[in-house]
Amino acid sequence: MLRRIGLVLMVGVSVAACRPRPAVYVPPPGVDVVHYDVTLDLRPETLYLNGRARLEVRHPDTLTQLPLALRGLEVDTVRVDERIVPVRLADGRLLVSLPGGQARSRVEVVYRGEPDEGVYAGEHEGQRIVYSDAWPDRVRGWLPGVHHPSDPATFELTLTVPRGHEAVATGVPVGVDTLGDGLRYRWRLGAPAPTYSYAFAVSDFAVTTTTLGDTLPVRYYLLAPDSAEAAELRRTPEVLAYFSRRLGPYPFAQYATVQVPFAWGGMENASASFLNADLFGTGRAEETQVHEIAHQWFGTHVVLADWRDLWLSEGMATYLTTLFYEHADGLDAARARWVEMARLSEDDLASLTELVPRGPVDPNTYFSWVPYRRGGCVLHLLRRRLGDDAFFAALRRAYQTYRGRPLSTEAFRVLLEQESGRDLTGVFDVWVYRWELPLLRTQWRPQRDRLTWQVEGDERTLLGLPVLLEVVQDGQAHLVPLSEGGVTLPGDTPPRVRPVGIMLRVE
Ligand SMILES: [Zn+2]
Repeated sequence: MLRRIGLVLMVGVSVAACRPRPAVYVPPPGVDVVHYDVTLDLRPETLYLNGRARLEVRHPDTLTQLPLALRGLEVDTVRVDERIVPVRLADGRLLVSLPGGQARSRVEVVYRGEPDEGVYAGEHEGQRIVYSDAWPDRVRGWLPGVHHPSDPATFELTLTVPRGHEAVATGVPVGVDTLGDGLRYRWRLGAPAPTYSYAFAVSDFAVTTTTLGDTLPVRYYLLAPDSAEAAELRRTPEVLAYFSRRLGPYPFAQYATVQVPFAWGGMENASASFLNADLFGTGRAEETQVHEIAHQWFGTHVVLADWRDLWLSEGMATYLTTLFYEHADGLDAARARWVEMARLSEDDLASLTELVPRGPVDPNTYFSWVPYRRGGCVLHLLRRRLGDDAFFAALRRAYQTYRGRPLSTEAFRVLLEQESGRDLTGVFDVWVYRWELPLLRTQWRPQRDRLTWQVEGDERTLLGLPVLLEVVQDGQAHLVPLSEGGVTLPGDTPPRVRPVGIMLRVE
């Protein structure tokens, strides 16, 4: 997802701050939900829903109790393989009794209520919209499940709403039935995705459809007041085509964009990204769209082994976005983004953390700029270390090997090492696991018009890398290789130094 520009308090953070949260859900070892078949009957006026979820679950045959995350709803019945079983619902956990002695169960949960999280109503220029918003685990407000990024599953949703409402959701639309005064929509997502990327929205949308090639439908669901703004998304097929060539085939059978008045800039819901309603007309819709499209490969299909690996989703989407602009608009467009990616404000330095903590993390408190920009910078450094051929081969292999499966930071390092034949232990120790950032110590000697620099604390991991610094004096930018150690400048004004895509503390 992408943070909304200028918004300091994020949804997840504010939820965490306002209400006591149950502990982060961690699935029991060996549990794997393969498929969710979900039926919801939703009243958009009150958000009240009647739900039925059928889960196909693989698990160790010794498991006798399956904890599913579910919060704030009443459970009517739970069946395992057609038989009603005892359950306990406490502290956001639905504890389902399993018979034991079998490694696969079909679990059906029938539930109802008004969600206290995960489903919301909002307005954009007078138009009402009901939508779901799930990251990191608020999907538990409308769906019982294994709500952890490491357990992606295929998904189908049947959503009934009163007539006069239009609905869009994760997956390919497979039909709409008229039932008395209601409309029953059905979608199917045929490739696994994490449950935080399951979503739906109900409003009066203006729908524009195009295609990528002859086969992939690309649809824009914009709210009526902004229906003319679809032009801002015109490069969407080009972005999908670029990442398909770069990384491997697009995983889903359609790509939709849905305009939603939520707190994020965008959210990479599987096959149906949501973009913030206010982005349209600001010139920021396209870049947010590129970020969310990149996630369809990393985050939404190659999934995180754990929340601590969040940079493999957010840092990857951040860096892949710059790669699209490098391809489409040229190196200067990418360099400008790499400088911004590496730029550190006072606030950034005050909230600096290591990129990947050694222990478990709560995604609500771990969420910050770090997985995005520090993660993106590590990918840029790895590209410089490996060279383009090995780096892009490694990304393609990561996608090919881990599509529909969890990828950890450690597995990613091994894959990069195999592809390049290099030992990257030192690089990961300094740039991924260490809290402190290496320092770029600069010295300006105005009497000689000479700026010099040296890097400290990088353990020689930058040695010999083609890394650039942007040195700006009197509004003039000069690109100088880091390895030159200095530059002579024409003016007397103290210059400003910004690393291009490498995150260094500059003094
Ligand atoms: Zn993102």
